[in-house]
Amino acid sequence: QPVTLTAKEHGIDPKLVSSNAIRVTSSLQDAGFKAFLVGGAVRDLLLGVKPKDFDIATNATPEQVKRLFRRAFIIGKRFQIVHVMFGQDLLEVTTFRGSATDGAPKDEHGRVLRDNTFGEQHEDALRRDFTINAMYYDPASQIVLDYHGGIADIRNKTLRIIGVPEERYREDPVRLLRVVRFAARLNFAIAPDTRAPIAVMAPLINNVPAARVFDEMLKLLMSGHALACLQQLRKEGLHHGLLPLLDVVLEQPLGEKFVRLALASTDERVREGKPVSPGFLFASLLWHQVVEKWNAYQAAGEYPIPALHLAADDVLNTQTDKLALQRKIASDMRDIWAMQPRFDRRVGKTPYKLLEHLRLRAGYDFLLLRCASGEIDSEIGEWWTAFIAGDGAEREELLAKKS
Ligand code: ATP
Ligand code: MG
Repeated sequence: QPVTLTAKEHGIDPKLVSSNAIRVTSSLQDAGFKAFLVGGAVRDLLLGVKPKDFDIATNATPEQVKRLFRRAFIIGKRFQIVHVMFGQDLLEVTTFRGSATDGAPKDEHGRVLRDNTFGEQHEDALRRDFTINAMYYDPASQIVLDYHGGIADIRNKTLRIIGVPEERYREDPVRLLRVVRFAARLNFAIAPDTRAPIAVMAPLINNVPAARVFDEMLKLLMSGHALACLQQLRKEGLHHGLLPLLDVVLEQPLGEKFVRLALASTDERVREGKPVSPGFLFASLLWHQVVEKWNAYQAAGEYPIPALHLAADDVLNTQTDKLALQRKIASDMRDIWAMQPRFDRRVGKTPYKLLEHLRLRAGYDFLLLRCASGEIDSEIGEWWTAFIAGDGAEREELLAKKS
């Protein structure tokens, strides 16, 4: 039985709930179904933070949900969820899921392969990851249902896995990464028994399909607290092998500084609500691997530009397998890298051509990171800053200085 908390007890500010989320819960309730905000949204509301998106849980089946809304789409084969759209706004509606553990098919390490049964609300709560992610909020009655002591953990700033930690990590090793992400992002302590098995169980991540690990890594890197997350990953012994790129990069003094600066600037952009491109992020994380190979190809007699392309190919080929880098991201990375030697050529028409490059902004930001990390002379960055900002006459003057 869940603990029930009234508005006065939980203190959620109803103004933080989006009107579209309320539209969805009230339509479902008017049709006779149960409907609640759930997961991250409730956690954020209790922390007094405006949620960035609202997930809704209901006892209506996907078909029943779809019928209630004009623009609703059933997504996913394995476990169907419904996307309800209002203009640009998207809400995810999920039918209560049954408990994963009993009878679900597993791999030889105990990872649950399929859990696509519907269930009761208490079962839905039990299969969620952390106590603070397993609360339900009904905007109409303003009641919070707390099944696993989430309220207390919110108040003590504690991240606690639901159930027996070893079993939950085994069922889904991605939870190992989620612990770190939430602890760093919310600045919560990890409960001792939630924390104890992490280092020992870390190798289980290697059995998870690369695409899922990638999704979770991307969430971590784009959380606005990437630097804190990576420090925590290290502290928990989770970065070895997981992020082969970080193993390599963080061992070179130059590379470490570069990665730190890149992540700090990404974190700042995220917190300011500016867009962040995964391509830029991964281009930064892998840059020093590229540089190393670039130098090696040049030492072996290649010209700089073809050497850079060969180096980029090598790095991308290894990492697409390990990380399941999507094609679009990989091609953005290649563009950013390939632009770098072009910034060196500051004569004639070449700089003007570069100004028209679609990804000039990303390439230039990347150049500034290289300057700031001490990899190249900051004069290049300053010159380009002036050239990009300059008018016709100023640009000619800058070019004259270089020839
Ligand atoms: P964020 O603000 O980062 O989106 P979130 O809590 O909403 O945080 P999601 O990854 O969007 O995180 O997941 C939504 C909810 O689904 C979680 O709050 C949790 O209840 C449940 N969940 C997600 N992933 C898992 C998992 N691997 N195991 C168990 N429950 C999960
Ligand atoms: Mg979410």
